Amino acid sequence: MAERSTTPAIGIDLGTTYSCVAAWRHDRVEIIPNDQGNRTTPSCVAFKETERFVGDAAKNEATRNPTNTVFAVKRLMGRRFSDVSVQSDMKLWSYKVIDGDGDRPNILVDYQGTQKQFAAEEISAMILTKMKEVAEAFLGSSIKNAVVTVPAYFNDAQRQATKDAGLIAGLNVMRIMDEPTAAAVAYGFDSNDVSSAVKKNVLIFDLGGGTFDVSLLSISCGVIEVKTTAGDTHLGGEDFDNCMLNHFVEEFRRKQRKDISSNPRALRRLKTASEQAKRILSTTTETAVHLDCLYEGIDFYSAITRARFEELNIDLFKKCIETVKRCHEDAGIDKNDIDVVVLVGGSTRIPKVQQLLKDYFSGMDLCKSIHPDEAVAYGAAVQAAKLSGQGTEEIKNLVLIDVTPLSIGIEGLGDITNVVIPRNTPIPVQKKVVRKTVVDFQSNVTFKIYEGERVRSEDNNLLGQFSLYDIHRAPRGETKFNVTFEIDINGILHVSAEEPISGGKKQITLINREGRLSKEEIDRMVHEAERYRIEDDQFKKKVLAKNSLEDEAYSLRRLMEDEKVISKVASGYLEYTAGAVDKVINWLKHDVPKDVYVYNSKKKELQEMCSKLSEMSL
Ligand code: AMP
Repeated sequence: MAERSTTPAIGIDLGTTYSCVAAWRHDRVEIIPNDQGNRTTPSCVAFKETERFVGDAAKNEATRNPTNTVFAVKRLMGRRFSDVSVQSDMKLWSYKVIDGDGDRPNILVDYQGTQKQFAAEEISAMILTKMKEVAEAFLGSSIKNAVVTVPAYFNDAQRQATKDAGLIAGLNVMRIMDEPTAAAVAYGFDSNDVSSAVKKNVLIFDLGGGTFDVSLLSISCGVIEVKTTAGDTHLGGEDFDNCMLNHFVEEFRRKQRKDISSNPRALRRLKTASEQAKRILSTTTETAVHLDCLYEGIDFYSAITRARFEELNIDLFKKCIETVKRCHEDAGIDKNDIDVVVLVGGSTRIPKVQQLLKDYFSGMDLCKSIHPDEAVAYGAAVQAAKLSGQGTEEIKNLVLIDVTPLSIGIEGLGDITNVVIPRNTPIPVQKKVVRKTVVDFQSNVTFKIYEGERVRSEDNNLLGQFSLYDIHRAPRGETKFNVTFEIDINGILHVSAEEPISGGKKQITLINREGRLSKEEIDRMVHEAERYRIEDDQFKKKVLAKNSLEDEAYSLRRLMEDEKVISKVASGYLEYTAGAVDKVINWLKHDVPKDVYVYNSKKKELQEMCSKLSEMSL
């Protein structure tokens, strides 16, 4: 059982487009509003000459400062620069992604007057830090422990990258939790199905900003058990926006014979307008996009109907339904045996998606009772409470069983992947396989570890490889190795091998993890994240000091307009004070940020004048 902790633990839904944080407090889960009062925060970071914005402020920067405003970074997590999806996403992004070390996609921005490169993990860490700060401000205590969610269909590298982002943000990631499982927890508690003795088959349909997950679970007697999961880590609202964006870019090309696709600002404005239009089309059947001076002084005006939007995206929508079919078929459960279909994720508001799903389930009513944008953070907060020994008895006794989304295997003869842990195996899991040498008197051996469902290794995803040297030399097939595969509770793989004969054990944990940050890189990033945080803090303090000086100057100016002051204070002193106030206001207008003490000492001077004026007018 978890040890009871007194400090709160939080649940963070780290989304492609929006993130959400929640915590267990006052015997319930509370979704925590950010400094703007919003319950979700844009997963967006903007870099400027003097400061860095995360969340709403960053999203507002997107059209003004498109090349330095980073969004949808979840789509880069754990991926290689050469990935087809990275290459195609980059074309539609207004910020630059370059080929970093080891085929890693690095984000290039101008920050504080210099060009800086950031790994996707670092940008995600900035978003996690923001969510942590939002929670700290709300709960009034510092926070270290968090459960962070990932799409169920995230692979090993993507999970590891998310965990590393948590490390860089200075969080203790207690658990990497699958988003649909978190949503199922929210559903289970909301409907009370979790404590019912009647077993229900629940299908979670989670279509968010950038990822799509389907999980089939059984819920009863305090146990939430994932049977199967399926999905696409690159399918969601962003793709629907991009389809509409491409449609408008084409229209502009056709009508104006001009290509706006190489202009980041125009592209960003049109993308924002496309997302808005998409949202409107979920409630109306037609809408318009109107952007003044979109490109080379030309205005853009276009109308789009819901039917046209659906036509543009129908292949993607149909793909969602095919994934649903695969998910329940993998579990050997007929669609008629599914009791509830729960909608999660902002994109499930699209009427066509709902209609296709309803049709597939022969007209069954879809469950819309849990909040599509908040359910995942809710479930993560329940898990965080459980792991830190907080919450009700029901939470403490809750059992969650997850599965691994992709098969894990080892390369065998003929470049074939031999599956060791098949997909949808409950986790944690440990499996051992015995391998033999393939060449007479072989002295070294290399193991290549893959994930994926294909037979040929080259069609699967290489997770990493490692070698054992100076092994026992013997005719082919005589030297044996025990290779152990372990998938931990976070869905992260650990592989080790031993060759028992050559004296003692040779054990190596999966190293050379493709594209993974090294320990040194993570340490450096932790250090830099802390430096950025301190710089942000100092900047914030300067802004506050500046604003406070400005407030003081204007309130002194108002005081001087007071009848009582005018009648009682000598005109010479009034003139002197007015001059001092004007000087400060002017100075502030042309001010480059100064040290806090400069603002504070000027404020003190004004405060003294203010008290003197008040005294004189008594
Ligand atoms: P999530 O990651 O679950 O927060 O989902 C965010 C995605 O949902 C974004 O792509 C939004 O554009 C999309 N979304 C939110 N509201 C709507 C809506 N009313 N209609 C269509 N898509 C929406």
